[in-house]
Amino acid sequence: MTFTPAQPFHAPPHLTDQFHRTVSYLRVSVTDRCNLRCRYCMTGETRWLPKHAILTLEELHRVVSIGAGLGIDKVRLTGGEPLCRRGIVDLVANICRIPGLDDIALTTNGTLLAGMAQPLARAGLGRINISLDTLDTHAFGRITGRDLWEDAWQGITSAQAAGMAPVKINTVVMRGVNDDQIKPLALLTRQYPFHVRFIEYMPIGIDPRQGQPNFMAVDEIQMRVAELGELLPIDHQPSDGPAQRFRLAGAAGEIGLIGSMSAHFCSRCNRIRLTADGHLRPCLLSDDQVDLITPLRRGATDDDIAALFAETTARKQGGHRLRFNENRRLRSKMAGIGG
Ligand code: SAM
Ligand code: SF4
Repeated sequence: MTFTPAQPFHAPPHLTDQFHRTVSYLRVSVTDRCNLRCRYCMTGETRWLPKHAILTLEELHRVVSIGAGLGIDKVRLTGGEPLCRRGIVDLVANICRIPGLDDIALTTNGTLLAGMAQPLARAGLGRINISLDTLDTHAFGRITGRDLWEDAWQGITSAQAAGMAPVKINTVVMRGVNDDQIKPLALLTRQYPFHVRFIEYMPIGIDPRQGQPNFMAVDEIQMRVAELGELLPIDHQPSDGPAQRFRLAGAAGEIGLIGSMSAHFCSRCNRIRLTADGHLRPCLLSDDQVDLITPLRRGATDDDIAALFAETTARKQGGHRLRFNENRRLRSKMAGIGG
């Protein structure tokens, strides 16, 4: 692990781990709260963190700024549901003004987006990912616990109307729950310029063996999509995330496949995460974390915080060890870590 202190900020040092991966992407959970209860995410009992345990907007902004001084150039705001966080539009605007960041995005369930897409776009948000697991309005209620499909769809079309591009749709595929929706969702790309991304279900907060029957690997998802017509691969760009990208011949949009469980992309991982309760995490699929909120609230300097970024980077493992056939359980909740 190499690390040069955060000063001076005009020459960003880089966070490089022991496997020579450079960390340049920070995912930030701005709240653990959510207005939905997706069955793959809100597992077990739902208990929100008290307000004082959550980083304030000022603290979030400061930590992201320090990260930008260390070579972080991409930030994604997530949660919980980020649009449930009061002041989110101002936070986006302030983060967009941080020098050194060239890619700022947000992941949302879309249900509160219709009225916020224009203000978010004006604040500088250019890209958005919206979760949608089904086009069946009744199934949406069964999967998310709330009958808000129309709101989510309006959120998607409002993002498009606000000029956000590309609008990415995230679908977590669960066998026996929404695998019948793979083709209908993929077909959306014929009509709309959306990027529909199918994500493997990850057993977070449960015994993985219990989740195994619902798992469907990206290879099988790809075979289902390919029944619609030829899938043309799109060349992988260095700035691409973990998705393998395809296009149905003649389609306006794209299809992405994200195989977090079957097709590990750990060797290319460039991310760390900031949890809603102020911890830095080297990996989504590990409970390891570095306490940042305590030093932050005890007067830590920017260099102290920069050292915690370096420590988190140093703790990145070569690959995650979550497996469906083992009882190695991830205790953390997705919403607090930021999916
Ligand atoms: N509430 C927002 C949303 O749903 O888009 C942002 C937070 S959510 C935790 C971020 C992403 O994680 C979503 O795309 C969601 O579908 C995904 N996700 C949540 N639980 C998951 C799981 N067990 N396996 C795979 N993806 C999951
Ligand atoms: Fe909420 Fe997103 Fe989790 Fe669904 S996936 S419960 S919308 S945080």
